[in-house]
Amino acid sequence: MSLRVGLGFDVHRLVAGRPCILGGVRFDHPTGPEGHSDGDAVLHALTDALLGAAGLDDLGSLFSDRDPRWKGADSAKLLAAALELVRARGWRVVNADIVVATEGPRIAPMRATMRARLAELLGVDVDAVNVKGKTLEGLGALAQGAGIAVQAVCLLERP
Ligand code: MG
Repeated sequence: MSLRVGLGFDVHRLVAGRPCILGGVRFDHPTGPEGHSDGDAVLHALTDALLGAAGLDDLGSLFSDRDPRWKGADSAKLLAAALELVRARGWRVVNADIVVATEGPRIAPMRATMRARLAELLGVDVDAVNVKGKTLEGLGALAQGAGIAVQAVCLLERP
């Protein structure tokens, strides 16, 4: 059995007039992540963790933010496409863990919904996907609710 770990990171500005979609879940919040796709920083970080573990470069090289095909794209579809590549190489997701740092939308009340959706997207049990929200202790622009930063790790196994 081979094991591989991958790390992903993403940052998006939070702006008015954008839907707030994080981890494939719609939040009721007045600002949302700016981006070429739907801006789902949680799925972007998670996808990079998956691709990193499998040695498959990164999200930006698979789905360029200059490619009109991905304008407004549902990031769940990008994750599904990346997962297909990972699985085609014989890898299976063991678990993923995610930290969301923002003083925009509150993560804790949505945690269970996010975990269920992420488990569905990854094809794993809910206890194999964890999400943690962190505030920023009033430090910097992110702390004024201006943005969101996400870290994700993902473990893969291959028999
Ligand atoms: Mg992104």
